[in-house]
Amino acid sequence: MTDQCDKAQEFEAMHRDIAQHTRRATLPYTGQCHNCGDITGGGRRFCDADCRDDYEKRMKLKGAHANSN
Ligand SMILES: [Zn+2]
Repeated sequence: MTDQCDKAQEFEAMHRDIAQHTRRATLPYTGQCHNCGDITGGGRRFCDADCRDDYEKRMKLKGAHANSN
């Protein structure tokens, strides 16, 4: 029984990990910066690295907040 329990926890952790990775990788291209809403064009999802970092930082904060709830 404990064996199954361990596996379930392991699976859950792995699943969470994958979800976090894919969320970042599959941001849809909208033609606008996901951080500030400026038109980006050229298939870019952010104006520049600063906007991307800002966005990722906010997403992380959001995640931390949701987890503490
Ligand atoms: Zn931007």
